[in-house]
Amino acid sequence: MADVAVLGLGPAGRAVAAACAASGLTVTAVDPHPELPWRATYGGWSDEFPAWAPAAATVATPLAWTTHCRHINRAYSVLDTPALQRSLDLSDVNVHVGRASVDGRRLDDGTALRAKVTIDARGAPARGRTQQTAYGVVVSHGRAETVLGGAQALFMDWRTDHGAGTGAPPSFLYAVPLGGDRVLLEETCLARRPGLGLDDLARRLIARLAARGLQIDGHEPVERVRFALDTPLPRREWAGRTPPVVRFGAAAPLVHPASGYSLAAALRLAPQIADIIATGGTAANVQNLIWSRRARGVHALRLRGLRSLLAFAPADVPEFFAAFFALPLKHQQAYLSGRDDLAGTAAAMTVLLPHLSRQLRTQLIRAATIG
Ligand SMILES: Cc1cc2nc3c(=O)[nH]c(=O)nc-3n(C[C@H](O)[C@H](O)[C@H](O)COP(=O)(O)OP(=O)(O)OC[C@H]3O[C@@H](n4cnc5c(N)ncnc54)[C@H](O)[C@@H]3O)c2cc1C
Repeated sequence: MADVAVLGLGPAGRAVAAACAASGLTVTAVDPHPELPWRATYGGWSDEFPAWAPAAATVATPLAWTTHCRHINRAYSVLDTPALQRSLDLSDVNVHVGRASVDGRRLDDGTALRAKVTIDARGAPARGRTQQTAYGVVVSHGRAETVLGGAQALFMDWRTDHGAGTGAPPSFLYAVPLGGDRVLLEETCLARRPGLGLDDLARRLIARLAARGLQIDGHEPVERVRFALDTPLPRREWAGRTPPVVRFGAAAPLVHPASGYSLAAALRLAPQIADIIATGGTAANVQNLIWSRRARGVHALRLRGLRSLLAFAPADVPEFFAAFFALPLKHQQAYLSGRDDLAGTAAAMTVLLPHLSRQLRTQLIRAATIG
């Protein structure tokens, strides 16, 4: 019987397995490909990542193009993905190469997985859910210059030079430095059900870049993104009973339903989970850390935010983000990063309303209340 079993060694599972092992706990972990190099670009607000998270690049004031151009006064970091994977040390973790059963109690060869606390970090299926999708290419700084127009990073660029027409499902350009001489240029559909197709996004990206003077030659490294935004919280966990497995990472779901970010939350929670177990805490205690009453309340409000986003007419989305990024930073921070800041999240949503046109305000209230 191990102290902790971790199912899945993506960023969330690996972070919690490494943290538990570093706390002196015995840890068993299972993944079909535990050493497969991670390839995704992981970014987020610098103040949300723990200090040890290795950044490949940090931009002090990323730019947002909504109805107009505005610098966001909050640093944004792109992690060094290989360094992140290496830094989450598994040398004291008993790693099984294979799959865990659906209920998380067995390995695929039938061996029972026995642990005081089992953490399920196997990710979440995107199929059938509201999705964030994106298609990106990596180019040199020199080539990206004409697209960035002097900016270091475009956190979101909602201009419609992607050629899909103003009535088409909205998408924005996300452009960030990756460290060295590499820049990611990614056409992103923030939220849609079903997710906007990657072929559609690729066409938009190529058209947008061409409109700004950058021809894609097909040899650029490509990133494809598709993940769920509204993975449901299991009922049992909502009811606060001791779960047989505690879901973590995208499986929890830690994904912010209206922004898609989850990694920083997972990296911050991992050592706290280890502390709880190392000091005799149970699966219920871990569950209560991840889904405290306030965190559940925040999640419900964020889901309302997602519902509003999905209800907006395409042309209204830039206006919404123009109003959002005009809010004082503390409100932006509370809404984007305050996982258990219920009062802050509610305040951010409330103070946003007077900044919106009457039409958008009505739509937002209707979507958030009656769906
Ligand atoms: C390309 C891409 C870019 C992203 N960019 C960002 C970003 O910039 N910022 C951000 O915050 N989020 C981002 N996300 C969203 C989210 O943070 C990532 O999906 C992240 O990888 C989730 O981590 P995770 O460890 O919870 O799950 P996953 O990364 O999905 O890892 C799940 C692990 O479980 C293993 N597994 C699956 N089934 C089993 C089984 N039966 N038994 C054992 N193991 C199993 C898999 O092999 C895998 O290693 C991105 C997602 C994608 C796809």
